[in-house]
Amino acid sequence: MDFDFTPEQQAFLAEVEEFLDANADPDVFDPTRENMAQIVDTPARRAFMAKLAERGWLGLTWPKEWGGQDSDGVYEYLLNEALARRGGPQIGKGVGIIGKTLLRHGSDKLKQEFLPRILNGEIEFAVGYSEPGAGSDAAAMKLKATKVEGGWMLSGQKIWTTSAHFADWYWVGARTDTEAAKHFGITLFLVPMDHPGLTVKPIWTMGDERTNEVFFDDVFVSDDYVVGELNRGFQYISEALDLERFTMFTYSPTRARLDLLVDHLRTATRDGAPVRDDPVVRSRVAQLETQAEVARVLGLRFVAKSAKGGAAPTVEASQYKLFATEFSKRLADASMDLAGPGTQLRVGTDDAPMKGRAESTYRYTVLDTIGGGTSEVQKNIIARRKLGLPKNF
Ligand SMILES: Cc1cc2nc3c(=O)[nH]c(=O)nc-3n(C[C@H](O)[C@H](O)[C@H](O)COP(=O)(O)OP(=O)(O)OC[C@H]3O[C@@H](n4cnc5c(N)ncnc54)[C@H](O)[C@@H]3O)c2cc1C
Repeated sequence: MDFDFTPEQQAFLAEVEEFLDANADPDVFDPTRENMAQIVDTPARRAFMAKLAERGWLGLTWPKEWGGQDSDGVYEYLLNEALARRGGPQIGKGVGIIGKTLLRHGSDKLKQEFLPRILNGEIEFAVGYSEPGAGSDAAAMKLKATKVEGGWMLSGQKIWTTSAHFADWYWVGARTDTEAAKHFGITLFLVPMDHPGLTVKPIWTMGDERTNEVFFDDVFVSDDYVVGELNRGFQYISEALDLERFTMFTYSPTRARLDLLVDHLRTATRDGAPVRDDPVVRSRVAQLETQAEVARVLGLRFVAKSAKGGAAPTVEASQYKLFATEFSKRLADASMDLAGPGTQLRVGTDDAPMKGRAESTYRYTVLDTIGGGTSEVQKNIIARRKLGLPKNF
C-alpha cells in the first residue's frame, strides 16, 4: 500500500507553499496562536481569504456547478494543513462545514445567495448549537422558534458561540416543535448577525480566545432562511458536526509543537547533562512520535472515506477528533514535564523553553477536547456507531 501523496498532489502542495511564502504577512499568520481554524477576524485576514478565493482554492471539493473544482478531498486537506502549519486562517466554517451542508440540503435560493459569497471569501459564520442546558446533549436545545406570518420569531439564548463577534451570519438551531421527540423538533436557520434582536456578550476562555453568549429577543427570520426541511435540523447539525470534527481540528499545529519540543530536547541540559540522554525522556518522546503518526493517519483515513458530495464519515470523524485532540493534550503535558519548570513562563518569554509555547498550549489544548463535542461524546458515538453498543442517553 502506498501512503505517499501522488506527484500531482505534491506539486499542488509545493504551489500552496510558494503562495504562502509570497504572502507571509505577520498580520495574517501567527504560529503562536493555538488554533486559527476559525479566526478570520481582521481586515488583513479577510483580504488573505479573498486571495485564496482568487486562486480558486476555496471550495476545492465543491461541484463545478457551484463554482468549485470537484477535486479529491486530499487537495483540501493539503491546503488546510499547510495554512494551519503556519498559523493562518483556514477554510473554516464557510467552505468546510456550512457550504458543504448547504450543498446537500439547502434550497436553491440559499445556495444561490450563500455559496458564491462563501467561495469568494466574503462571508464568515458563527455556529449556534450549544445552550446553557444543551451541550453534549445538543438535541435538548430550547431556543424557541414561534411560527408567525412569513417566517419565525426566535427568542432565547445560545452559549459558546465562537466568532459571533465578527461573523456575518449565524447558523443556528431552534426548537420549532415542542411536542415531537427532541431530535425531531429542531430546525436550522440562517440569521444575519447584525439583526437588532441579537445581543452578543463575550466569554474569554482559559486558552485566551474569545467565545460568546448570544441572546435572541424576538428575532424574525423569514421562511426563506430555513435550511432544508422543517424539524430536520438536528439531522443536518449532526452531519455538520462530522465535518467540524475533522476540519476545525487540524493536525499540523500539533506536529509543529512536537517538533518544537524535540528541537528543545536536542540541546537542553539538566544538572549539566544532556536531557536527550535520559532514557525516560527518550522513551516518552518515542511514544509521542508514534502517537503523532496515529493522529496523522486517522486524519488521512477520514479524507479517504469521505465520498465526494456525500455525508462525512461519522465514525472516522469521531475517531480522529478523539485521538488527535487527546494526543494534543498529552503532548502539552509531556512538554511541561520534559522541558522543566521554565515551561510555566508565558508565551513570548524569550528565555523560556520553546519561548513559552508550552504554557499556552497546555491551557489551549483542553478546549479542543470539548469544542465540537467532548471526548466522552466521541467515545459514545464510536461505541454506538462502530461497535453497535446500546445508546446511553
Ligand atoms: C473553545 C470552545 C468553543 C466552542 N464553540 C462553540 C460554537 O461555536 N458553537 C456551539 O454551538 N458550541 C460551541 N462550543 C460548545 C461545545 O460544543 C460544548 O461545550 C460541548 O458540547 C460540551 O457541552 P457542555 O459545555 O454543555 O458540557 P456538558 O454537556 O454539560 O458536559 C459536562 C461533562 O459531562 C460529560 N458528559 C456529558 N454527557 C455525557 C454522556 N452522555 N456520557 C459521558 N459523559 C458525558 C462531558 O463529556 C463533559 O465532560 C464550544 C466550546 C468550547 C470549549
